[in-house]
Amino acid sequence: MTIHEQQSETQQEAKLFFSRFLLEWYQGQKRDLPWRRHRNPYYIWISEIMLQQTRVDTVIPYFNRFIERFPTVESLADAPEEEVLKCWEGLGYYSRARNLQHAAKQVKEQYGGQVPNDRDAVFGLKGVGPYTAGAILSIAFNRPEPAVDGNVMRVLSRYFLIEDDIAKGPTRVAMERLAAELIPEGEASHFNQALMELGALVCTPKSPRCLPCPVMEHCAARLAGCETSLPVKTKAKPPRPEERLAALVEGRGEHAGRVLIRQRPVSGLLARMWELPHWPAPPAEGGRGGALLPEAAALDRLRRSLRQAGIPARPEEHWMAAEHTFSHIVWTLQVYRCREEDVRALPVAAEGRAAYAAGQSPGAGDAGRPAGAGGPQGSAATGISGAELPAADSDAPALNADAGSSAALAPGSGTPDLFSAAGTPNGRPAADSGSIEPFADGNGNPEDGGAVRWINREEMANYAFPNVFLKLLNSYFDEQNG
Ligand code: SF4
Repeated sequence: MTIHEQQSETQQEAKLFFSRFLLEWYQGQKRDLPWRRHRNPYYIWISEIMLQQTRVDTVIPYFNRFIERFPTVESLADAPEEEVLKCWEGLGYYSRARNLQHAAKQVKEQYGGQVPNDRDAVFGLKGVGPYTAGAILSIAFNRPEPAVDGNVMRVLSRYFLIEDDIAKGPTRVAMERLAAELIPEGEASHFNQALMELGALVCTPKSPRCLPCPVMEHCAARLAGCETSLPVKTKAKPPRPEERLAALVEGRGEHAGRVLIRQRPVSGLLARMWELPHWPAPPAEGGRGGALLPEAAALDRLRRSLRQAGIPARPEEHWMAAEHTFSHIVWTLQVYRCREEDVRALPVAAEGRAAYAAGQSPGAGDAGRPAGAGGPQGSAATGISGAELPAADSDAPALNADAGSSAALAPGSGTPDLFSAAGTPNGRPAADSGSIEPFADGNGNPEDGGAVRWINREEMANYAFPNVFLKLLNSYFDEQNG
């Protein structure tokens, strides 16, 4: 049956039954979740963004920490972006955190810091789609708006035996209409939460627990014995695999006990987060990925990439492999231990050497570490000082406000940085800079040119890392401590 046929038939009884028994069940079974203890629209908004793609159990500690650190819309709007990312570290999908902060600024500037009780206004917030808008409006303000996500579509597909593809836009729109019809008058907040709760606890994707289900009696899929084959959903394209070579650069001398990290570009994937430097691996012979590159070829390519980026290090041996999955891409990182070399021996321009020496030495004032008072623990929450952060909402790729002491300076500052020795685009050395060999593909790497830091384990707390690098760095420091 399609959703349209379902709509055209008289199923009023089944609908009334569903709404009534679902609500009753929810009153007795609802979980005590931190964002349910108040009807604070800000809390509900944060929780709904965190819950996208993430399990409730995982979200609870993040939510509590986030609310403790950013208790109001204003506090989130005014925070340095890196503190927001640090609080989000481990949850993944970091654009959610950036959009959230952007939207908090909108709420602060346009609505006096109060989440608006207005459909158009909520829809206009960055990162807020139909589901999140419906959740905020219904849960916080009890407005009869549907909040339809994958869980809700699964429940409705089964209960009403709807065989339309839930990956298709028109199906979602029709589901939203159906969900809106089901909301009992004056009960939008509880009803929408009940529907979400049923999808999370009872009508689960693989093994729906139909026996204790409060709406089993009229569930069409259950009656037809086809509950596990619904919903119908076409498979998304699998993420594209990408092999990369990563450098775990171990410090020597004044950097002993530290490893080198690099900040990602100001826009794009994982913008402004910190990582081990890494580059796409060239295909091995036969067109296969970098994981299968012979060790010598991988070491050679990594050596050239490090030189190209102006990082004074020599790759020595393979350390470990790690994977990071995004919605559209999977990185397989082959991580190589690299040994720091004397920057003076490398073919980078004098200005680059000077910047490196000034910016990367842990002993050189606050350069090479966050600029908070007292060093790594400078800021109350994370030790990150505002001076360390990029200008909020700036189009300029200013990687460090303390440019005078940083290895990486904003383009246009007139001073060559460590990576673009003669101020060339894409962080590539000038043609006359000597023996730095360009890549065969002739393209610079847009990821080169970010700020770099030497950090030890304690200093990890000052930087936001994507999961894979968090795990790699923890493994490394665990290994070092025996
Ligand atoms: S009876 Fe089973 S399939 Fe139907 S809504 Fe309940 S748990 Fe889902």
